[in-house]
Amino acid sequence: MEKKKVFILGSTGSIGVSTLDVIRLHKDSFEVEGLTANRNIELLFKQIREFNPKYVVVKDENLANSFKDNLPNGTIFLSGENGLIKATREAEYDILLSALVGFAGLQPTIEGIKKGKRIALANKETLVVAGEIITQLVKQYNAELIPVDSEHSAIFQCLTGEKNNEIEKLILTASGGPFFSKSKEELKHVTIAQALKHPNWEMGNKVTIDSATMMNKGLEMIEAHWLFNLPASKIEVIIHPQSIVHSMIEFIDGSIKAQLSKPDMRLPIQYALTYPNRMPNSFTNTKLTEIESLTFHKPDFAKFECLQLAFDVLETGGTAPAILNAANEIAVDMFLKGKVSFVEIPEMIKNALNHVENKSKPDLETIIEYDSLTRKYFKV
Ligand code: NDP
Repeated sequence: MEKKKVFILGSTGSIGVSTLDVIRLHKDSFEVEGLTANRNIELLFKQIREFNPKYVVVKDENLANSFKDNLPNGTIFLSGENGLIKATREAEYDILLSALVGFAGLQPTIEGIKKGKRIALANKETLVVAGEIITQLVKQYNAELIPVDSEHSAIFQCLTGEKNNEIEKLILTASGGPFFSKSKEELKHVTIAQALKHPNWEMGNKVTIDSATMMNKGLEMIEAHWLFNLPASKIEVIIHPQSIVHSMIEFIDGSIKAQLSKPDMRLPIQYALTYPNRMPNSFTNTKLTEIESLTFHKPDFAKFECLQLAFDVLETGGTAPAILNAANEIAVDMFLKGKVSFVEIPEMIKNALNHVENKSKPDLETIIEYDSLTRKYFKV
């Protein structure tokens, strides 16, 4: 069997590194066509030496100059935002693993869709800000959108052999993050270090903070809406602190199907690469008898306001999800820099939603414009 070529957007991130782990394990099935980083050129360089990609992109233009002279002969090197777009447009690959963080992932992912390729999608922000456009483009260009997010991978797997019109609801599980048992009052005093300490998953900083505010589950709810073509009223979020049940589908006859495994992103990444096939691996090894209990709780929407805000913007539609996403990216960044407190994150998002006007039926240019308008509103 010919090896599948994988282009990894964001190879130096948490998902990117896990993807390279999966490829390392299945060297006979996959090879690397492209790798990209923003600033972590030290790790990128190690990855280039090991995986010998044809395309390399460094987003940060200042670092790019010092980097390009040291590349192996024959490597095609590009830089900046345009470099990411050009590389994903020109490179020859079978699978685009989309794992940049934030809005930055949108345009390079669209390039992969326009080539009619398989998109293994970790960058949920792409569907949050432009879900309608993305799903239309996927149909138009006959591309494939396979979720990498563990919850959506679980639902995708549970859907095999089932009919969409027989779904009663999707049940998205959430760990509840590090502050599940804290009161609203206690949230006022949490520190950056506490917020970065996720109980079950090791992830990049942005998604870790999103998990602590539960915005992550809100973004995932919007992602699920577009991936599985179901209204928000048919998507329920429940807290499951052990992160063993990755999500579920309840069908109209009352039957519930779930996908279980110990939390390790390499499993849904591997599935997105190998689908519709499965491959053995050395990392998944889930021992159910060692798990004491699986518990489920209702989320507290009043405490985790970001979750409610995500449901609200999906209902509003138009540019509201893009405004929410941009405001959240800025608020999380400011929290990580110690400029705002944890409870100011939802306040900043509400503020942006109240002040940046919503525009209905936006095209791609309008979404890009509204992302910038929101950033300008915060003067960044
Ligand atoms: P990381 O922050 O760990 O990695 C992000 C990657 O994107 C890095 O390679 C980084 O480069 C690069 N990058 C960062 N900013 C930019 C930019 N502005 N332009 C171009 N490249 C950039 O993120 P994660 O791997 O944790 O998450 C990636 C995506 O996957 C997110 O959308 C997240 O929500 C989603 N996801 C993540 C999960 C996880 O377990 N981590 C689980 C499910 C979904 P550099 O290293 O040089 O900074």
